[in-house]
Amino acid sequence: MSKQVIMPKPGTKIDLSTFDPDFNDDYHKSGAREALKSLQKRMRELQAMLYAQGTQSLLIVLQAMDAGGKDGTIRRVFEGVNPQGVRVTSFKKPTEEELAHDFLWRVHQHTPRKGFIGIFNRSHYEDVLVVRVNELVPQSVWEKRYDHINHFEKLLADSGTRILKFFLHISKEEQKERLQERLDIPEKRWKFSLGDLPVRQKWDAYMHAYEDVLTRCNTEYAPWYIVPANKKWFRNLIIARAIVETLEDMNLAYPEPEADLEGVVIPD
Ligand code: AMP
Ligand code: MG
Repeated sequence: MSKQVIMPKPGTKIDLSTFDPDFNDDYHKSGAREALKSLQKRMRELQAMLYAQGTQSLLIVLQAMDAGGKDGTIRRVFEGVNPQGVRVTSFKKPTEEELAHDFLWRVHQHTPRKGFIGIFNRSHYEDVLVVRVNELVPQSVWEKRYDHINHFEKLLADSGTRILKFFLHISKEEQKERLQERLDIPEKRWKFSLGDLPVRQKWDAYMHAYEDVLTRCNTEYAPWYIVPANKKWFRNLIIARAIVETLEDMNLAYPEPEADLEGVVIPD
């Protein structure tokens, strides 16, 4: 299998038809799972330091089509990480109150505070995806949002937040199988929404909107990863690896104890 770029350089024009959702870099399931385990062990160590140090944060953005694996990624990649230092935010259809503000208002409130990992299950990118595809606002409004987003993410980056954005890339056939499974397996049926079907019908329009996002909002300070996500075990491996590599690069360390703790004995 030939190599595939997972982290395109900023400025690259993205054509998703050239990214294979089945790509697995010649990994096998068992090898990928072993590799994931050791990455998770390291992730736990690094997260403990991030939390103790309390000066930087990490924001992880997950975007995908329905059944693309956002929930599964959160469940599997972050298992064993101390929940005290992680906040997951799922962005749904905006409320009336949220719609009465600019589109980043509701998002900014949930960016991770120092020491924390923030995970966005959907994000401000919905405002140039579902909103664009369904023309919920005029083009003159959504067209400006790519710049707004880049500036917003720069503000976060300049404020000590590292940002990683993952597009979980599944094929239309894979989505069909996963949605059908939601119907067929009683324990999964709660996840099925009839509203997912009209969205699926607009698959090509969504891919086009994603291509613009991946082209226009891929920056050095907030890069996009195009994660081949038909194979859940490969998706998990790629995301865990990107997170560990980023945390390794953040100069994390436990804070120095106060000097005058020397010789302190806890009284009876
Ligand atoms: P789910 O992730 O399955 O719980 O579904 C959440 C729904 O909220 C999806 O259909 C999203 O497209 C929708 N959603 C999220 N953000 C927005 C937004 N800014 N505008 C409109 N719909 C949104
Ligand atoms: Mg859904």
